[in-house]
Amino acid sequence: MDKCSFCGSSKNEVELLIGGIDGFICESCVDQAYEIVHKQPELNNNFDVNKIKLLRPIEIKKFLDKYVIGQDDAKKVLSVAVYNHYKRILQENHHASDEVEIEKSNIILVGETGTGKTLLARTIAKMLNVPFTIVDATVLTEAGYVGEDVESLLTRLLQAANYDVKAAEKGIVFIDEIDKIARKSDNPSITRDVSGEGVQQALLKILEGSKVNVPPQGGRKHPDQKMIEVDTKNILFIAGGAFDGIERKIAKRLNTKVVGYSASKQKEKIDTSNFLQYIAPQDLKSFGLIPEIIGRLPGLTYLNPLDKQALRNILTEPVNSIIKQYKKLFKMDKIELSFDDDVFDYIVEKTLEYKIGARGLRAICEEIMLDAMYNLPSEKSATTFHVTLDYAKERLELSDKITRLRVA
Ligand code: ADP
Repeated sequence: MDKCSFCGSSKNEVELLIGGIDGFICESCVDQAYEIVHKQPELNNNFDVNKIKLLRPIEIKKFLDKYVIGQDDAKKVLSVAVYNHYKRILQENHHASDEVEIEKSNIILVGETGTGKTLLARTIAKMLNVPFTIVDATVLTEAGYVGEDVESLLTRLLQAANYDVKAAEKGIVFIDEIDKIARKSDNPSITRDVSGEGVQQALLKILEGSKVNVPPQGGRKHPDQKMIEVDTKNILFIAGGAFDGIERKIAKRLNTKVVGYSASKQKEKIDTSNFLQYIAPQDLKSFGLIPEIIGRLPGLTYLNPLDKQALRNILTEPVNSIIKQYKKLFKMDKIELSFDDDVFDYIVEKTLEYKIGARGLRAICEEIMLDAMYNLPSEKSATTFHVTLDYAKERLELSDKITRLRVA
């Protein structure tokens, strides 16, 4: 009687028995073998730390400039932090026992939504060619409560690294909406704050660098689940958040500080149109982050709101700007796409009017381009397509009407 050469099950005990030269394998052993090949980190360790492309800070900033418009201060802080972080990893690799141990410098980016925080983190990961994942802090809760355990952010990183633990341990995690886990009230823990302070406490040990047991498939930990140990010592954490209303706290702090001697002189220097540029750790504390978390995110920087010129540049300047992407799409159909310059100004105006930020640029372009993208590929004779201001206005007004009809 034919039997599975791995588990010994006979043909009538299994659904499927696959024959080889000298033996057989049943479907459940195939599944297990697949798991071993794809999920076993030990068998998959081909990440080479020496292959990280480490540029100097000025070069890192130049690289960021190709993808991200403006935000010079954030780019500078990020470039230096990333340079030092990876320098430290590479040195550790070469001379293991140096006396001076450089501490890691996780980063926190504060700025309105849609100003480029995620884009900055993603671009850094692309440059270094290390595993990268984005985790939303709002889904995290303290262990034992409805929501995801904090360890799940390492599960995501493992998945991004294809379960190559060594690669994941050098990766970057972007924790989005970190401001949403701020302490809910100034009174510490009258009732348990499981999605605020509780999560911050749980995050601490992951941020500072420790060996963490991670459930490979995410979700809740349960007793008989096989865990993968991940050392977070060399993982770079970049946190981002809008911190709505933090400007008021900064203004208040600056105000109290300048009362006293030479007050009027200092006051003159403060640019009240953008308080974020003066952000300091104590503002994060008054917003509700606990001091231990702030201490573990020492690279604090901010992003500017995007003005008209910045939006205009985002449309056309970055290496993979929206307009360049449309041109490429049309080129695939052998159609040369071009625009009148004032079309770009019009798109920016509309984006500002609808208050939809940089993300809205694409939405508006889609409305304008949809009809052409639908019809032109079938028109054999089309070799060029030129978008004029009138055409753009007509398309957008039409789609405006349709949306309004739909809403009504
Ligand atoms: P957030 O600050 O909310 O993380 P994102 O980085 O996700 O914002 O930005 C959303 C989108 O807007 C990006 O994918 C990008 O297309 C565009 N964008 C935002 N800011 C910039 C910028 N400074 N330079 C270039 N593109 C930007």
